[in-house]
Amino acid sequence: MSFLSAIAVISLLVTFPVLLSLRKTGVPGVASFSAACFLTALAASVALTASIVPVWFHTVAGGILIVAAGLVMLSGFRQFLGCTLPGAWLIAVSLAGVSAALLFFSHGAHSHLARIVIGNGLLSLICVLIGATILRHWPEERAIAPYMLFCCVMAFLVALLHAFRVVTAMTGFDLVNSMLAPPMWATAFLAARLLIMPLFFLGIILMLHGWMITNLRHMIAHDDLTGALSRRAFMTAFERMFAAATGSRQQTAFMLLDLDRFKQINDLHGHAGGDAALVHFTRIAHATLAGRGILGRLGGEEFGIALAGAGRLEVAEIAEAICTAVRTTPVQTNSDLEIGLTVSIGIAMVDPGGSLSDAMVQADVALYEAKALGRDGLSMAGSLHAASVASARALAGAAAQMRAAIGPGQPLSSTG
Ligand code: GH3
Ligand code: MG
Ligand code: MG
Repeated sequence: MSFLSAIAVISLLVTFPVLLSLRKTGVPGVASFSAACFLTALAASVALTASIVPVWFHTVAGGILIVAAGLVMLSGFRQFLGCTLPGAWLIAVSLAGVSAALLFFSHGAHSHLARIVIGNGLLSLICVLIGATILRHWPEERAIAPYMLFCCVMAFLVALLHAFRVVTAMTGFDLVNSMLAPPMWATAFLAARLLIMPLFFLGIILMLHGWMITNLRHMIAHDDLTGALSRRAFMTAFERMFAAATGSRQQTAFMLLDLDRFKQINDLHGHAGGDAALVHFTRIAHATLAGRGILGRLGGEEFGIALAGAGRLEVAEIAEAICTAVRTTPVQTNSDLEIGLTVSIGIAMVDPGGSLSDAMVQADVALYEAKALGRDGLSMAGSLHAASVASARALAGAAAQMRAAIGPGQPLSSTG
């Protein structure tokens, strides 16, 4: 059966540098998985030396190495799943105990059966723990769930195969393994036991890759300060939402939100205070939206919200609720200071089949109106009220400028 062991060793040695190459990615547990892979490769290569080293050495060394690999692998899974880790001392004490027991049954009481029960039985137990850890701390991330399921199945299969080895040894069936021509089932089980480990590590590599891809995708799609969607991800999601809404003949709303007098917040509370305000605003906006739309940071202190299937009135109510929540919930700073915050919102409704870029321009104009109306409020594109109030304000502003130009107390009509 040494050719099977050789295949297992080669596969594990090929897997090892792949795992090592993932170390710099910062995936939790990758160092432990690499170490476990190397230890498993060593354990499998000990099996290759069966004809040149004494039997006791081959079972003791193989047993210690495979139990160590199992423990390190368990620790890798616990790191990956964010669980508390077994202390290094616990692993060291367990290994010392296993080594002492294996040596005792090799030199003190010669018992091949005891050595099999210790080595294979412990590995089986550790793999049950790995499977149970995965099931108990099942990751929320759906993208890695299939790989986790694969690893879980592998862990239980390894446990089963090694438990079976213990059972066959205890019941005397194991004798067939040492015969020159073992029966098919014994060969099949030995092959499965040797070759399942490279498969298990392949599952681990796929799981780590899945984690990295998910993390990178998340990083690209989210603003790292506030956690809101990045501009690009927001636009992609907005376009998708708009296409779906057009399909079901529904309106889409676009809100442009701009924090008021943000330069002053930075001036008064420093850039860190401004950053805290941005994070705080995002949290409030998300909480107020309660999953009814998407929120993206379009740049600086400017955010966008897209909503489908809501009418003008409902959209205006949501925008008003955001203004109120932001106004009434000041930012708490580390120095027990409160930073008052307000936001102005420009809204544009897009009819099915309409133009998103037009809607964004309209929302920009509406935002300008909301600012002109005194900030801390909303303005809806196409709203007569907003337009008239905004133009009245603009007229009043122009009149004030003219008054300033011709001198105080002079009536405007006297200029003609
Ligand atoms: P208005 O009410 O008219 O919007 O006034 P404003 O002060 O908010 O005006 P403006 O949009 O010109 O200022 C935005 C400021 O936001 C300028 C910039 O320094 C600040 N800013 C942009 N991005 C960040 C950021 O990531 N962190 C912090 N702290 N400040 C930022
Ligand atoms: Mg701005
Ligand atoms: Mg601003």
